[in-house]
Amino acid sequence: MNILVTGSAGFIGSHLTSRLLNDGHAVIGVDNYISGQRANTKRFFDHPRFRFVEADVSLGMPDTHESLDYVLHFASPASPPHYQQHPIETLMVGAQGTQNALELARRHDAKFLLASTSEVYGDPNVHPQPESYWGHVNPNGIRSCYDEAKRYAEAITMAYHRYHGLDTRIVRIFNTYGPRMRHDDGRVVTNFVHQALAGEPLTVYGDGQQTRSFQFVDDLIEGVTRLMSVRHHEPVNIGNPDEYTVLEFAQIIRDLIDPSLDIIHRPMPQDDPRQRRPDITLAKSLLNWEPRVTLREGLARTIEGFREDRRLLESSDRR
Ligand code: NAD
Ligand code: UDP
Repeated sequence: MNILVTGSAGFIGSHLTSRLLNDGHAVIGVDNYISGQRANTKRFFDHPRFRFVEADVSLGMPDTHESLDYVLHFASPASPPHYQQHPIETLMVGAQGTQNALELARRHDAKFLLASTSEVYGDPNVHPQPESYWGHVNPNGIRSCYDEAKRYAEAITMAYHRYHGLDTRIVRIFNTYGPRMRHDDGRVVTNFVHQALAGEPLTVYGDGQQTRSFQFVDDLIEGVTRLMSVRHHEPVNIGNPDEYTVLEFAQIIRDLIDPSLDIIHRPMPQDDPRQRRPDITLAKSLLNWEPRVTLREGLARTIEGFREDRRLLESSDRR
C-alpha cells in the first residue's frame, strides 16, 4: 500500500514507519518537527520506499502525486510539557490538521486512522476504562488543549465516516514508551531513565500514588497494524493493563539502573489523572491482540536505546 503518516518524525510515528516499510509498504512521512526529531527522519532517508515532506498539516496537506491507500494521522504534540508549551498548535493539529488529513483520505478514496488517546477519559471515574466510558475532562484546564482536541478529532472522524462514508478507524492509545523518545520530552519514562542514567534523583510528582499502565511501543504498533486491517469504526483501546503507581514505577527504574539513587517529590501538576488503566476486552476479541512485552523487558530495551543515544551525543560533542 501507499501510506501517508503524519507525525512520522515523532516517537510513535517513526516506529510505525519502520514497521510499515518492513512490511513492504511505501510511506510518505509528513512532519513539521514541532515535537519530533530530525534523526527519526534521517534513519529512513536511504530507503527506496520512503519519502518525506516537511509541512505543518494544520495549514494543509502536501500534494501527493502518488495514489494513497491509507492516511495515518499521528501528528500532535503528546507529552504534557510539549502540548502545554504549544497549546494553540495542539488544538489546531487536532482540529484543522485532522480535517485536512480526512479530506486528503476522501480525495484519494483512502482509508483513515486517527491516533486518539486515553486522555479522552480525562481523570476517570470509571476504572479500568472501557471504550464505552465518555470520560471526565476539564474542558478549560491546562490539559484541555490536548484532551479536547483529541475529543474533537474523534468527533470529526466519526462525522466523516457517517456523512461521507469514509472508511475510518480510531485507536485510543494508552501511555506508551520505548527507544526513540525525545530526551527532553518531559514524560515520566524519559525523565526517570535520564535522571537515573545521569546519577540524579528521580522526581516523583505529588505523593506518587497516581497510577499509569505502561505499554511498550512494539505492542502498540502490532495493535495499530491489526486495527488497520479490520473494518471497525468505533474507537479501540490499545494499552497494557498492568497498572503501577508512579512511585512504584520510579522504584523499578531506579533498581534497574542504580538502587542507591534518591527519589524526591515535586508538586503535582494541575488536573493530573489519578488513575489510568485500559480495558482491552474489545482489542482482544476484535484483533486477537494483547500486549506481549513485560515492563521489565520493555524498560531494559528502552534503557539500552537511551544509553546508545547518550554515547552518540557524547562522541559528537567531543568531535
Ligand atoms: P511525538 O511528539 O513524539 O510525535 C508527534 C509528531 O507529530 C512530532 O514529530 C511532531 O513534530 C509532529 N507534529 C505535531 N504537530 C504537527 C503538525 N501540525 N504538522 C506536522 N507534524 C506535526 O508524540 P508521540 O508520543 O509519538 O505521539 C504520536 C501520536 O500518538 C500523537 O497523536 C499522540 O496524541 C498519540 N498518543 C501517544 C501516546 C504516548 O504515550 N506516546 C499516548 C496516547 C496517544
Ligand atoms: N510524573 C512524575 N515525574 C516526572 C514526570 C511525570 O511523577 O518527572 C508523573 C505525572 O505527574 C503523571 C505520570 O507521571 O502522573 C505520567 O506522566 P506523563 O507526563 O508521562 O504522561 P500523562 O499520562 O500524564 O499524560
